[in-house]
Amino acid sequence: AQEDRTSRLYDGNLLAAKAFARAGVAHMFGVVGIPVTYLATSAMKEGIRFIAFHNEQSAGYAASAAGYLTGKPGILLTVSGPGAVHGLAGLSNGMINTWPIVMVSGSSVQADVGKGDFQELDQLEIVKPFVKYAGKAKSIREIPTVISEALSASISGRPGGSYVDIPSDVLHETIHEGEAEPLLAAVKEIVPSWSVGSNPGELKVSENKVSEAVSMLRQAEKPLIVFGKGAAYAHAEAAIKRLVESTNIPFLATPMGKGILPDSHPLSTTAARSTAIGESDVVLVVGARLNWLLHFGEPPRWSKSVKFILVDISKDEIEFRKPALGLIGDARVVVQQIANAVKDDPFTLGDEHPWLQKLKKKSSDNIQKMANSLAKVVVPFNFLTPLRIIRDAIAAEGSPAPILVSEGANTMDIGRSVLEQTEPRTRLDAGTWGTMGVGLGYAIAASVTSPERLVVAVEGDSGFGFSGMEVETLVRYNLPVVIIIFNNGGVYGGDRRPAEDIVGPHKNDPAPTSFVPGARYDILMEAFGGKGYLAGTPEELQSALRDSFSARKPAVINVTIDPYAGSESGRMGHRN
Ligand code: ADP
Repeated sequence: AQEDRTSRLYDGNLLAAKAFARAGVAHMFGVVGIPVTYLATSAMKEGIRFIAFHNEQSAGYAASAAGYLTGKPGILLTVSGPGAVHGLAGLSNGMINTWPIVMVSGSSVQADVGKGDFQELDQLEIVKPFVKYAGKAKSIREIPTVISEALSASISGRPGGSYVDIPSDVLHETIHEGEAEPLLAAVKEIVPSWSVGSNPGELKVSENKVSEAVSMLRQAEKPLIVFGKGAAYAHAEAAIKRLVESTNIPFLATPMGKGILPDSHPLSTTAARSTAIGESDVVLVVGARLNWLLHFGEPPRWSKSVKFILVDISKDEIEFRKPALGLIGDARVVVQQIANAVKDDPFTLGDEHPWLQKLKKKSSDNIQKMANSLAKVVVPFNFLTPLRIIRDAIAAEGSPAPILVSEGANTMDIGRSVLEQTEPRTRLDAGTWGTMGVGLGYAIAASVTSPERLVVAVEGDSGFGFSGMEVETLVRYNLPVVIIIFNNGGVYGGDRRPAEDIVGPHKNDPAPTSFVPGARYDILMEAFGGKGYLAGTPEELQSALRDSFSARKPAVINVTIDPYAGSESGRMGHRN
């Protein structure tokens, strides 16, 4: 065909931006610099919101959380070499949490590879353990295909990481609009799995398997339903509610599964977790791995004879765990199938059922114990007193419920049993790896992708410190995020080292677990024009929460916690 010399020229940056926009990408997170600055500005011209961070680590965590919250891959843009290395934090975190994320990095001029070019690195090689797909656009014409394949791979089957490599020379190459448009037309729009019609064949399981699952649950004496963040990602909440409420089977949510059904639901067994886990005989596990968080599904925490029915999109996961029954499919679709089968041939545990009675008794005892502890007002603050005040302030927000970001050893561990989730996908925490430093990135992603919700991050001072500078990012984009820092002056707590414990020439150095006592994180926030509060009493905290929640503007509440409250490694001291 004759070339149209009057048509516009697209360079690689613009073509990439257009490919992302065509696929329906709404946000990008990243750090610009050589050679990707114009990729970011081109994306903005195409209507994509680019959120510019200080560090790719935090931007990557944001992209991974955006993937989880929206069901579309979160996009992380980095420069080459060191930028890509920093980005691995977010890419690996997405992969391990099974959240869809696509890292896009610029790379060295192809002709100079191997000569020690500026920020040269074999990025395709370093991303390997953390991706399902990695592709390099070796010429401008390959950009749309590589982007399209990366996006699809990250959300197909078990979600995870993808990588797109675009060399500098390719970003600067140009083609005419007339040639570019057909290439762009081939880019598929990305749709979250939950928005696909209700019963697409490949996401379902056979009716035989459904009957087998139903009959196992029906015959169980102590059935239990466990759901995790895979079920939240799949938007399985309506189906799970139907199944739980029609059968009266008690349930247990994993930390990020919290909110699929409200924590206050009468069939929640969170407060009787050990009994539920220790005694259940048939357990339907939906979108949650039997990993360390669920004690591997093995004795002594689980009973020897327990039978698992696992619902997971990943065939590998099911083959690896070897459950009594494996249902490979989408959580929402498969639980709908099970709930439908139960509807056709109903069964339900009566309220007097001994299993329910036992769990209810245990739960109400534990809830009472916790209520007693929470009723004590402790100043200087322990963890419970401020957590109770924060719980009440969040509850007062009603619906749409705020998104809670939670990290820190004690702050997250204790917070998990005090702070309540009422809606699905409103909790983001340290996740499968127990990653610390995710908080600011998660909070930014939550706010950008769910603008209708207030975002409240409850963090230890150590978790906050990983990426504290991103408070400037909050102010720059004017995001309604309230960061509440539990400031006890260190990792786990303040300097609690007995003097005789450490010898040698550096014995007068601060303990490796300690930070400057009384650090003024609230003033750090004010340096950028955000609002800062210092709170050491219940009245100060209540007033700061009232003020910052209603202002819907970036804020830091620096909560002074007794440095001797809490314990080392949170509840995992035995592993340290
Ligand atoms: P949690 O940390 O809440 O226990 P995990 O991250 O361990 O949850 O497990 C989530 C599981 O959900 C993964 O094994 C993943 O393969 C699975 N998963 C992801 N998406 C879906 C989906 N749409 N349907 C079913 N399972 C899914």
